[in-house]
Amino acid sequence: MNKSRQDNGFPDDPAENMRKISSGVSHLGLALLSSAVLDDTDDLDLHESVREEIDTLKYAVVAGIRLSGPVLRTVKTAPTLTYYYHYKTVNFALDQAALHIAGICQQMGGRVFPVPASQILDWDRFKAHLSHREIACRAGIGWKGRNNLIVNPEYGSQVRYVTVLTDLPLPDGREGVESMDCGSCMRCISVCPVGAIHEDPDDFELDKCAAQLRRFADIEQLNTLICGLCVKVCEGRVGVLQSRETKGEQSA
Ligand code: SF4
Ligand code: SF4
Repeated sequence: MNKSRQDNGFPDDPAENMRKISSGVSHLGLALLSSAVLDDTDDLDLHESVREEIDTLKYAVVAGIRLSGPVLRTVKTAPTLTYYYHYKTVNFALDQAALHIAGICQQMGGRVFPVPASQILDWDRFKAHLSHREIACRAGIGWKGRNNLIVNPEYGSQVRYVTVLTDLPLPDGREGVESMDCGSCMRCISVCPVGAIHEDPDDFELDKCAAQLRRFADIEQLNTLICGLCVKVCEGRVGVLQSRETKGEQSA
């Protein structure tokens, strides 16, 4: 095992550092775990509170928890209370996972900035601390989908993410991962009640989506901005297989 140390005192084997993190959180039921090198901060959509720290925190751990398919299927035309509680619970679990990861990094001598899984800091511009989606892309977890969410080949958009920034050297999760995109899939376009989703992911209309989320929050009396419609149809390979199995069981 490589035990050499850099001048700043860290173990300098990125793969070994990541292996220790992965083994330390193996009991948390994470669906996805990867790391990113933040060699440039373009497209990270940083809030000023993070921007002040990012120069010294050039690595990120990204952890994802999979949403429940059956819970998502309760969302027919609007978010349900069942989905709302699930969403909140998953965010809470992600924040706990971030604390675990941060603790492991600290034990190895790293500085850490666990970023809240879901906290809007600027409601006018709908901005959080940073774009978990962009960092997940840089960690090789997936691509920016037509629905403006990260799409993972196995689980689609049905995963929520948290990020821990650190100065502990970690591997570049993109290495060796083929770049992918939505291809010919258009499933989410037709389910959006306000037509915010288009064929080109860059044409996504955030204003329309945000306005609809606010309408849902008012109508359904939810104190968070959620929808779930375009998440429900973006299942990935595993989700599609499990949906087929469920339908097969029901018709048997
Ligand atoms: S979250 Fe809802 S409103 Fe926003 S793009 Fe998806 S389906 Fe449309
Ligand atoms: S449902 Fe299809 S088109 Fe929409 S984001 Fe997912 S993979 Fe892309």
